[in-house]
Amino acid sequence: MPREARAQTTERAAKILKALRDEYGAVHSALRYEDPWELLVATILSAQCTDVRVNEVTPELFKKYPTIEHFAKADVEEIEMIVRPTGFYRNKARAIHESAGQIMADFGGEMPDTMEELTQMRGVARKTASVVLQEVIKPEGPHDGVVVDTHVQRLSRRMGLVPATWENPDKIEKRLMEIYPREEWNLAFVFIEHGRAVCIARKARCAECIVNHLCLRRGVQ
Ligand code: SF4
Repeated sequence: MPREARAQTTERAAKILKALRDEYGAVHSALRYEDPWELLVATILSAQCTDVRVNEVTPELFKKYPTIEHFAKADVEEIEMIVRPTGFYRNKARAIHESAGQIMADFGGEMPDTMEELTQMRGVARKTASVVLQEVIKPEGPHDGVVVDTHVQRLSRRMGLVPATWENPDKIEKRLMEIYPREEWNLAFVFIEHGRAVCIARKARCAECIVNHLCLRRGVQ
């Protein structure tokens, strides 16, 4: 991207984020959890599933397996039965079970607290690790990346922060990390809120959008 165009995008992006932060304030994950491990489990379950559905399933799960050790020793098929309503339940149950086993074997039963350690675990991608780090382990930063879920992808394309054709979340994350200073890399919480409330996937409500004047509205009918 030419330097001048990048400077304009950066300036516009900063205004967009300020407006969204002013509108939504300090937003937190809608997933219910008591500690970093429970948030990690809930975040794994939230792939391709709503937070509401995950929150319906986790109380039974966390009651049956109250510690990481309980998850590690669990019968993976019993975990599958409980998490089945969240979809892709076999993969999710295995990811949770093996992550618990890894924490017991490699981290002395203590939840890892860095991006490098978290992403060593099966089923824990950068996005999942960033959610846990930004939400509960080190919310004040320094942040290690930007959470790029479907909402962040869609808004970034529509608002013209990344090219409209970009689909690769890693590429989008890299561009957002270039556009925004590190202290703003926890932007996903307000982007997701705006994506759910206004910039909805099936029909954006542009007329009532607070960043309407800053948005390129790419791909919006
Ligand atoms: S103006 Fe429309 S497309 Fe742009 S962020 Fe707002 S709702 Fe989304």
